[in-house]
Amino acid sequence: YVQCLNRVQMIKSLNAYITVTNKISQIQLEESAQRYLKGIPRPIEGIPIAVKDNFCTKNIKTTCASRMLENFIPTYNATVVQRLLDSGAILMGKTNMDEFGMGLENLSGTTESIFGPTRNIWGSHVIQKLNTNFKESFSSPPDDFFIAGGSSGGSAVAVASGSCTVALGSDTGGSVRNPASYCGVVGFKPSYGSLSRYGLIPLVNSMDVPGILARTVGDCRSAFDIIKGWDPKDSTTLQRPLNKSKLKRTSAKLSKLCVGIPKEFHCPGLSSEVSDAWRDVMDLLENCGIRVVQVSLPHTSYSIACYSVLNPCEVASNMARYDGLRYGYRATGKNLNSTESLYAATRSQALNQIVRGRILAGNYFLLKENYDKYFVQALKLRRLIYEDYVKLWSTGVDLLLTPVTLSDAPLFSEFNQKDSRAQSADQDYCTQPANMAGIPALSLPVRMSKRNLPLSIQLMAPHFDDETLLDVAELVE
Ligand code: GLN
Repeated sequence: YVQCLNRVQMIKSLNAYITVTNKISQIQLEESAQRYLKGIPRPIEGIPIAVKDNFCTKNIKTTCASRMLENFIPTYNATVVQRLLDSGAILMGKTNMDEFGMGLENLSGTTESIFGPTRNIWGSHVIQKLNTNFKESFSSPPDDFFIAGGSSGGSAVAVASGSCTVALGSDTGGSVRNPASYCGVVGFKPSYGSLSRYGLIPLVNSMDVPGILARTVGDCRSAFDIIKGWDPKDSTTLQRPLNKSKLKRTSAKLSKLCVGIPKEFHCPGLSSEVSDAWRDVMDLLENCGIRVVQVSLPHTSYSIACYSVLNPCEVASNMARYDGLRYGYRATGKNLNSTESLYAATRSQALNQIVRGRILAGNYFLLKENYDKYFVQALKLRRLIYEDYVKLWSTGVDLLLTPVTLSDAPLFSEFNQKDSRAQSADQDYCTQPANMAGIPALSLPVRMSKRNLPLSIQLMAPHFDDETLLDVAELVE
């Protein structure tokens, strides 16, 4: 705990934390010590954790990195947070994110926070301080930095820097796996329905899943075991246990396992370095005796477009609660003489342009005359994407191996350039479909790029086969 606390201090300049919960963690530590002394430690007694700032935490600010909730203090804990605390975890703080989890043109990088961007630890001056054996001299230009990825970038840097063992993030289109990939940590988006969303401030209810970031697959699994399972407060959670791991069944043999390589993931913009890392993991699996086959998921390339309609529609509906009346920011100023003018002023003062843009787009798509043309079409497309996966699993494919991000972490200046944004607008290309289909997916760091930044690959499994996914990830790790 003390080491983690030191790290929290040392990485201040990376802006990973929005709130550091010093006082609360001291009290939790005290209780942990007592439990150890009495010989009754709980499963993760004294383990430091961090939580993305869109999970409600009792008596602790939960801002969603937005002016709207800058001073919002929930009266209850999100179920996943409560379960970790009940098992002995110590909360180090709440982590930075893109405002409400949304990035400009769907590109989230933890750069759109009212508290300023989070910096990746890789390529920063901090890593050289932390790692005394660090010989290679690589760093970002003085006025620039490598982005952490997003929108759970604060959680990824919190883990990568050793300021906590496990962090919670949320994943709607890749927001856990993207920063995990850029920061070189494991990022796990479990099956939709395996984790409770109660207390997670919603972005897209039909796609949001709490995710886990950790340095090893084993740590991810330990946290997952604690937080998974039915929650009476979230009707979409699964009431039965998850499927048993295919590797733990009695007749389990690696040679019986089949891993698919979907050809659509050889997408435009994929860097040769990621491509090479991908190929190496294919070879590794084959050398373990696993069957590796080429497969196809024909609707993959429609996923981003489909998301671009469904996301704003759900956002428009979710954001309606921020009206300046019930809670959160309330506009002040003259001429606020009608409810409508209060709504309008509150929203324009307290939500950034990205969020407002999505509310507008969503309401446009949902207009009576547009509903069938956009919303219903997008739902149909989502069904086709989902069915691609269902069909594939029925042919005996157990897992998929794909890239996560198309390259290593970009510099902030590259990320912000208009034309390079257009090129990398497909940054969620590989992560997005798993949210459409609700299936579990995991980002695993495998090697370093030429710029000495982490490169990762992604594993995906059928719905509720999270245990198989974790087992195979552990094998690759
Ligand atoms: N990049 C996507 C967006 O901006 C996904 C974000 C997320 O998963 N929260 O909407």
